Amino acid sequence: MAKKKALITGVTGQDGAYLAKLLLKKGYRVVGGERENSSSNLWRLKELNIDKKIKIVPFELLEENLINKEIRYGRYNEIYNLAAQSFVEKSFVSPVYTSNVNALGVIRILEAIRQFSAKTKLYQASSSEMFGNVKSRRQNEDTSFEPVSPYAVSKLHAHWMIDVYRNAYNLFCCSGILFNHTSPLRGNEFVTKKIIGDLIKVKFKILPEVLLGNIHVRRDWGYSHDYVDAMWKMLQQKKPEDYVISSGITHTVKDFINKVAKYLEMDIFWQGKNLNEVAIDRATKKRVIKIKKKFFRPNDINHTYGNSSKAKKILKWKPKTDFDLLVKIMCDAELSKYK
Ligand code: NDP
Ligand code: GDP
Repeated sequence: MAKKKALITGVTGQDGAYLAKLLLKKGYRVVGGERENSSSNLWRLKELNIDKKIKIVPFELLEENLINKEIRYGRYNEIYNLAAQSFVEKSFVSPVYTSNVNALGVIRILEAIRQFSAKTKLYQASSSEMFGNVKSRRQNEDTSFEPVSPYAVSKLHAHWMIDVYRNAYNLFCCSGILFNHTSPLRGNEFVTKKIIGDLIKVKFKILPEVLLGNIHVRRDWGYSHDYVDAMWKMLQQKKPEDYVISSGITHTVKDFINKVAKYLEMDIFWQGKNLNEVAIDRATKKRVIKIKKKFFRPNDINHTYGNSSKAKKILKWKPKTDFDLLVKIMCDAELSKYK
């Protein structure tokens, strides 16, 4: 039987790299879409030792011609659209750009599939950010959406367009509503990676302290490596449907800091409130965490807490890596850079 062929957009990102590795293991021909940058950004693929095993093609979500050409002539069985302006904070600074990439970019892909390759299956990377500050304690596929950032609105626009094209044109397209997931390959600007990277620098006296925003928000964090498996499973079903993918456990950013500090054998204690809240290292008596207003967002989600019962039942998917192990994996990877 001929090998299946998949296109991963955003292959240079965190999930793109893990998904490429998974699909190669499953025997796919993997093509990765990379946008044109002044320098190539293949470090994650190199880290996983797969940069030579996949074909890289130019792919830009703002460029309709490029998208049409790739989808028309690529003859893909599956497309995973992971490319996005993925940083919520940046979406407040660049709302128009964020919408153009994250929402209109998806319509460009849907149109290309509809016109030139109607048998191609499409996975779209939706986000728990779309739920915003909903009243329900836990969120599943039936929870209403109340987005609070330009990023979330852009993702919701794309999410609904997937639904429209699925129903109107009978395309096999679906969205994974993924809750926060992280890994050693996470971008440095996201809070988990920032905390680990900066706290290790403080421990090794390279940085005086870590500067953070709101540490009382709750997030349902999982491991990217586990979550890409759910993406693949969604495209192997008979019917295209949307699924919530989450760990089902929620922690504050402060919990995450405490867990990391403990793993790094830094004995910290907290004092003060609000913008004056600080963490002090008991051994050195020095401040190691300080709260800075500039890292607060104009609008933020207070808590995310997912319910992935549907994925468990239909996809037979559940997360394999718990919070403690996730912190260990990320800390060990970061510490290994200093050896
Ligand atoms: P990353 O930020 O690590 O990766 C984003 C990818 O998109 C990068 O490869 C980036 O390229 C590419 N990209 C950005 N802009 C464009 C563009 N205009 N045209 C083409 N490619 C572009 O994100 P993740 O891997 O963490 O996330 C994957 C997807 O899942 C994203 O859509 C994200 O919004 C979504 N998501 C992520 C969650 C998470 O917690 N990680 C949670 C829910 C949804 P470059 O390397 O050049 O910057
Ligand atoms: P997000 O949930 O997709 O926006 O992922 P992030 O990792 O960027 O942020 C998670 C939460 O941590 C958000 O509620 C942020 O407001 C909060 N947070 C607190 N301090 C920081 C910080 O310094 N950087 C980032 N990125 N987030 C922070």
